[in-house]
Order: sequence, then structure tokens, then C-alpha cells
Amino acid sequence: MDIPRIFNITESEHRIHNPFTPDKFATLGDALRLKPGARVLDLGSGSGEMLCTWARDHGIVGTGVDMSPLFTAQAKRRAEELGVAHRVEFIHGDAAGYVSDEKADVAACVGATWIGGGVAGTIELLARSLSAGGVTLIGEPYWRQLPPTEEIAKGCLANSISDFLGLPALIASFGDLGYDVVEMVLANQDGWDRYEAAKWLTMRRWLEANPDDELAEEVRSKLSSEPERHAAYTREYLGWGVFALMPRLHL
Ligand code: SAH
Repeated sequence: MDIPRIFNITESEHRIHNPFTPDKFATLGDALRLKPGARVLDLGSGSGEMLCTWARDHGIVGTGVDMSPLFTAQAKRRAEELGVAHRVEFIHGDAAGYVSDEKADVAACVGATWIGGGVAGTIELLARSLSAGGVTLIGEPYWRQLPPTEEIAKGCLANSISDFLGLPALIASFGDLGYDVVEMVLANQDGWDRYEAAKWLTMRRWLEANPDDELAEEVRSKLSSEPERHAAYTREYLGWGVFALMPRLHL
């Protein structure tokens, strides 16, 4: 079981597979006021940077589930490297429908909400693993500027403008689902560069090492077009953030 190979190639050197930088995950960990021993579940945990650094900095315990064997292996290595392998566990598997045995204080899906069939379904899925009073984390794109045309939305690799909302509308949508937004940390354009531009050097080196690979042409073409596409579209139009949610408290 694996994700499409192209992601394992272009993101093989990423520690964080989204526009967050290490300082953003640190800010989020502080913002959540994590207590030692708090349990964190992470669906689509990638290379495990969030759980591993929070285990190091806040003493959390955690479980991550990810469909990429490569990223899962990197997450386990990272846990060893940071000396937190006894606190965090990384499971290779499909997180769709994954419900933990032990209830979590924080249940997260950071940049992989297709796992639950979209934001609403992922919030419902995470709720099944969450303790009373627990916090749900959703990492999701939004339009930093609304694209004036569908062509521009496609330039951001969206299918259409309707794929994403503007930031106020995204926040309102969590309310419509019955949640209070209790914290948020947003990525910025420099963070987008770290996520996107890091792929370019990886692709360049991979091409040199794998000129005869069946994906070589696809990677060659991406390396030619991606820097300009990123600068014209994603960097300008797309925002990204992690939103902390709790079931709406009605008075
Ligand atoms: N949350 C991580 C990774 C985000 S990228 C981070 O912030 O770095 C999206 C991740 O979802 C990738 O690691 C990919 O392997 C994983 N993924 C995609 N589909 C999945 C599925 N069905 N179940 C589990 N993980 C999945």
C-alpha cells in the first residue's frame, strides 16, 4: 500500500509535507498548551515532524498513521534521532476509517483531509478518537486572494475555485459544522517556498541519478514548469493554515 510514487520522489527530502516551517509547528504546539503525557493522534502523519518535535518539546505521546512506507520509515528514524521513539508510534496504513483504541486529547489531520472525504468527514472521523474536551486540528488550504478566473485556480492545482474557501468563509464553515475555532496558526509565502521550492532541488538530483526511470520525463517536465507556476499561482493565491476546533459550547 502506497501513495502515488511521484510524491515519494518529489517530497523524499521533506521533513514537513506542507507549507508549515518548524517555527510554525512550534508556535502551534505552544498555542495548544500541550501538557506532558497528552495523547495526540495524527492521520496522514507524513515524516512525523509534528509528533516527534511535540514529544521532544512538550512530552506528548502520539500515534501517526500514514500510507507512504517511505514517509513512515522517515518518521520512525526522526523519532530515534530526537530520542522520543518511546513516546511516538508510526503506523503504515490507510487512515481512512482509522479510530484509535485510546482516546486522544488532540486528534489531527494536517494537510490530508481527503482521508475522511473532505473537511466535514475528516472532522467526524477524528471525533471518534477524541476524548471529551479534546481538540481537533485541521490543516487546510484557503484562498489568500480569490482567483479571478478558473484558469488561475487550475494554476494553483485546484480543480476549480470552489475547491477552497476564503479564510473568513473557511472559519465560518467550521462554525456551520458545529465547532468553535479556538486557535489557528497560518502559513505564509516563505513557508510555501519551503514546501514547493524544496521539491525542485530534490527533483534535479533525482533526475541526475535516475535518467532512465519511467517517471524521468514527468519529473523533467515538472522541474521546468514548477518554479514559474508556483511563483505565478500558488505563492500568490493560496493560503494554508491549521485550525484548532472544539465542539461549540452552547450557553
Ligand atoms: N501531516 C504531514 C503530511 C501531510 S502531506 C505533514 O504535515 O508533514 C499528506 C500525507 O498524507 C502524506 O504523508 C501521505 O502519504 C498521506 N496520505 C495520503 N493518503 C493517505 C491515506 N489514505 N491514509 C493515510 N495517509 C495518507
